[in-house]
Amino acid sequence: MEIIDGKKLAKEIRENLKIKCDELKEKGINPKLAVIMVGEDKASKVYVRNKSRACDEIGIAFEEFLLDENITQKELIDLIQKLNKDKTIHGILLQSPIPKHLDINEAFRTIAPEKDVDGFNPVNVGKLSLNQDTFVSCTPYGIMKMFEAYNIDLEGKNLVLVGRSNIVGKPLIQCCLNKNATVTVCHSRTKNLKEHTKNADIVIAAIGKSKFITEDMIKDNAVVIDVGINRGEDGKLTGDVDFENVSKKASYITPVPGGVGPMTIAMLMNNVIKAANNQ
Ligand code: NAP
Repeated sequence: MEIIDGKKLAKEIRENLKIKCDELKEKGINPKLAVIMVGEDKASKVYVRNKSRACDEIGIAFEEFLLDENITQKELIDLIQKLNKDKTIHGILLQSPIPKHLDINEAFRTIAPEKDVDGFNPVNVGKLSLNQDTFVSCTPYGIMKMFEAYNIDLEGKNLVLVGRSNIVGKPLIQCCLNKNATVTVCHSRTKNLKEHTKNADIVIAAIGKSKFITEDMIKDNAVVIDVGINRGEDGKLTGDVDFENVSKKASYITPVPGGVGPMTIAMLMNNVIKAANNQ
């Protein structure tokens, strides 16, 4: 069994991006990411801080727009439109969740596709489904980079996704199809989940339930990718996979923390550099 070291791989990616960022700066382009946060979500604050640190390390300028939780939809859209027009800003990210009275879909639609480094604008989602060059959302993109780095070939493999969210599960369907995997998508209404996962060469768990995927659900030598981030009452992070027991059966497995999480941020940085380069 080999542990897929997302932390190490993400570090290598960030080091390469720093070189690319320096090259852009030599040409007079200063890559910049704008992050919009609405309200005071505790977890979001941690995520935004981590993104800011990664930007600092690479040399990407970072500007945070902290909006009051009571702002109107119009104020949010106006800000996005202003950032769309600002030529010094190459990437725009709206940190979710946002308060329920706001329409997040309209907000994502408003982010200019060429600045949509999270890949949530329907134009970019559509391009992904057509296998065209686009901004792939960062968590799925990070997982694809892990497969590549560890020479895990998806072609012809039975790959089971557990979870179909817009930010993880659904873009992964396209990414894995584009690599010629045979993709099965499971979710909360799936009957006999175990029957699906048990047959899978590769299982990707993006559920949000601590240690949900257990040893008996996995076949010998399966590749297991754990997207989940669950914080227990003791403050400890766990994934959606029972790492201790599943790792005894898997051929490759990602840990939590130190697996998919760091890759997500590295791919965000990758998308900002790509956006700056394109623009
Ligand atoms: P989400 O929007 O809540 O989606 C969860 C998915 O799991 C849904 O499709 C849901 O099915 C499915 N599900 C729930 N209970 C299930 C069950 N009993 N059996 C089978 N499927 C079930 O969550 P998300 O945003 O995709 O995130 C999933 C996890 O990944 C969370 O822990 C999140 O914190 C983590 N995450 C990590 C990263 C990272 O960088 N590492 C990035 C994003 C998310 P339905 O569609 O039927 O409701």
